[in-house]
Amino acid sequence: MGRPDDCEGGWLGLATIPLEEKLVSFFKSEKYRELLREAAVRKKRSIPVEFNDLIKFDETFARNLVASPNNLLGVLNRACLRQLQIEDPEYAASVPVFAARIISLPTATPIREVRSEHLRKLVMVDGMISKASAVKPILKKGVFRCRYCGMTQMVEQASHRVSMPEACLDKTCRGSRRPSFELVPEESTYIDYQVIGVQEKPEDLPPGQLPRVIEVRAKDDLVDVARPGDRVIVVGVVDSVQERTVESPLRTFKIYLDAVSIEPASKEPQAVHISSEDEKLFKKMAEDPFIINKLVESIAPSIYGLDHIKKAILLLLVGGRSKT
Ligand SMILES: [Zn+2]
Repeated sequence: MGRPDDCEGGWLGLATIPLEEKLVSFFKSEKYRELLREAAVRKKRSIPVEFNDLIKFDETFARNLVASPNNLLGVLNRACLRQLQIEDPEYAASVPVFAARIISLPTATPIREVRSEHLRKLVMVDGMISKASAVKPILKKGVFRCRYCGMTQMVEQASHRVSMPEACLDKTCRGSRRPSFELVPEESTYIDYQVIGVQEKPEDLPPGQLPRVIEVRAKDDLVDVARPGDRVIVVGVVDSVQERTVESPLRTFKIYLDAVSIEPASKEPQAVHISSEDEKLFKKMAEDPFIINKLVESIAPSIYGLDHIKKAILLLLVGGRSKT
C-alpha cells in the first residue's frame, strides 16, 4: 500500500522471487480465485485475505508477515495481482493498484498497549471511529519534467516526502549534473488518502479512564469504508513519524497505524440472545414498582449521585421512537 516493497534489496530482493511464485499458488485456491473474479466484476481494487488461510498455507510466511510486513505485504500484493491477471487480464491491466487485505489476525492488541515494540509490525486493533478527515489525493506515481530539456521521468512515491528523480537521464543535458525538476500534475497518478481516529470502545475502558485514540491512515479503497461512530476492526502496520519543532527534528516519534484492512465490526445487539428464562425474569422485574430506581442506580455506579442525569440517560436509552 504505497510502501517500499522490496527496496531493501539484499537478501530479500533475491529471496522474493521464489516466494512470489509460491504465493501465486496460494491465490490459485478455489476460494481466492472466486474472490478475484468477483472483485473484477464489481470493479473492486482489493480482496480480503483471512490470516488463518495464510497460516494453513505456510506458517513461516504468516509469522514473518506479522514480524516484517513492509517487505512481505508488497510480495503478497504482487502475487495477488498476478493471479488477477490470469483470472481477468483486461481488468488487471486497468487497475493502478490491487491489494490483498489481511483480515482477522489471531489476537487483537488493545489500543492503549500499542508501543514502540510494535513498530513496523502487523497488529489488529478494534475500536470506534471517533473522527475522519476529508479525503484527499496523495501522489502515487509522480511524473517530473527536467527544467532544462523537458524530458520526463516517472518516480514511484513511497515515503512521506515527495521523491524526485536524481538526475536528468540525458547525459548531455545540464540537468544530469545540476538536476532541477518540476512535477507534471496532470500526468501523475494519485490515490485517495484519509486520516481517521480509532478510539477505544467504552466497554474496553478501565474504570474512570478517558478513551485513547490511535491515528489510522487509510488509502485507496479503504477511504470512507466506515464513518465516525462505527465500530471497526483495523489491521495495519504500526509506523511512526518523527516529531519536530520549527527548527529541528526531535527524538520523539508519533505512532500511527498504516491500514491494511478496515472491517466494520458487527453491532453487538444482534448477538444478544434472549432465552425464555430471561424473558420470565424481565417480566418479573417489570412488576417491581421500584425498578426505575434500580436501573438508575445501575447506570455508571462508580459515579456518585447525579440521579436526575442518570435517569435522563436511562430514558434516552430505552424510550423514544424513530422519526418517520
Ligand atoms: Zn534534462
